[in-house]
Amino acid sequence: MALKSYQCSNCGANLNIDTFNLTAQCDYCGQKLTFDTEEIAEIFEEREKTKRMKAAEEEQTKRRIKEEEERTKREEAQLKHDAEVKKMQSDTDEFMEGARRVKDGFETVRSVTNTVKTIAICVVVGIVLIVALIALINILKHLG
Ligand SMILES: [Zn+2]
Repeated sequence: MALKSYQCSNCGANLNIDTFNLTAQCDYCGQKLTFDTEEIAEIFEEREKTKRMKAAEEEQTKRRIKEEEERTKREEAQLKHDAEVKKMQSDTDEFMEGARRVKDGFETVRSVTNTVKTIAICVVVGIVLIVALIALINILKHLG
C-alpha cells in the first residue's frame, strides 16, 4: 500500500505511514504509531455534521433575505397603492370643487337675471302708470 511522509513527533524525521493498515513507523528512531480508526471516523462524522449545519445556516440566511426582499416588495406595492388612492381622492376633491364653482356661477347668473326681470317689470309698470296718468289728465281737461 502507498506510503505517505509525515514528521515523527519524537525526533522530527520523516515518518512512513501505511495508509492501508493505518500504522506509521519512524525510519530514524523507530517510533511506531497506530491510528485509532474509530477516532478518525468520529472526526469525519463531526466534520460532516459541521458541514450540514453550515449548509442549513446558509439556507436559513438565504430564506431570510428572500423573505425580507418579499416584505420590501409588498411594502412598496402598498405605498404605491396608497399614493394612487390619495391621488384619486385628490382628483375627486378637485372635480367636486369645480362642480361647486360652476353651481355658484349658475346661481349668480340666476340671481342677476331675477334682479333684471324685477327692474324691467317695475319700469313697464311705471310707464303704464305714467301713460294712464297722462290719459286721465287729458280726459279731465276735455271735461273741464
Ligand atoms: Zn523518530
